[in-house]
Amino acid sequence: MPPKVYINGRLFEKEDAKISVYDHGLLYGDGVFEGIRSYSGRVFRLDEHLARLWDSAQAIWLTIPMTREAMAKAVRDTLAANGILDGYIRLIVTRGAGSLGLDPNRTADPQVIIITDSISMYPEEYYTRGLDLVTASTIRNHPAALSPRIKSLNYLNNILAKIEGLQAGCVEALMLNHKGEVAECTGDNIFIVRGRELVTPPCDAGILEGVTRDAVMQLAREAELIVSETPLTRHDVYVADECFLTGTAAEVIPVVKLDARKIGTGAPGPITGDLRERFRKLTRS
Ligand code: PMP
Repeated sequence: MPPKVYINGRLFEKEDAKISVYDHGLLYGDGVFEGIRSYSGRVFRLDEHLARLWDSAQAIWLTIPMTREAMAKAVRDTLAANGILDGYIRLIVTRGAGSLGLDPNRTADPQVIIITDSISMYPEEYYTRGLDLVTASTIRNHPAALSPRIKSLNYLNNILAKIEGLQAGCVEALMLNHKGEVAECTGDNIFIVRGRELVTPPCDAGILEGVTRDAVMQLAREAELIVSETPLTRHDVYVADECFLTGTAAEVIPVVKLDARKIGTGAPGPITGDLRERFRKLTRS
């Protein structure tokens, strides 16, 4: 069955799902989005994703032309129309079509788009072996320029770092902030483990507050780990016992090298394994 795409309350066949080339989402990356997972027909942390979408919109003076309840229903209806139980949901709100100028006041209707698809996951081998990372020379957006807390349609900052990672043979790259501290990876948050302590950079390190990050911190507290949001340097990652990333698509994925330095034993660690298992239980039972 070809996928059906939701645009402003209507479902379109994939090839007919189109928006204007004058949309400021395309012209300027002026819009916001979310990436969400559905497990066995249950949408994981939909309320949290919608809250972040609304916060992102608020931060760019974009009014989403529907209620959160209506958006939640639209997500569920689109999944049902596509017969998707286990899949990925891409929610997009663009500024809408306007003139060839930056002024958002000269745009018309924001476009609400929901794409549902099967999820393309990292190969299992990445989880059993662990990822190698490099530090990108492209720093994360300065929070005073474009806050990384806004999940905007302008992802060039992350794409440039991703390219650097790929060129070095890594599927993810570490991004530092303007202070040289560890921020996050191009599409995932980062954690390190020291003894029974789990540490991740705070929001003001210039990161996207990941929904998976939040869920994993909660699981770690249940596992009686000491959880803290503390600024980290690359040195902290180099000398950590374990390191892993979190994200909607990746879930919990071990990291075993940064900049060719082995982290811990050089193999995925037991605490990472335990949290990965707890996350699987949370999403799949
Ligand atoms: N950081 C960035 C830059 C992201 O784009 C994402 C989402 N892919 C994440 C972190 C992880 O967030 P979440 O757990 O909500 O998917």
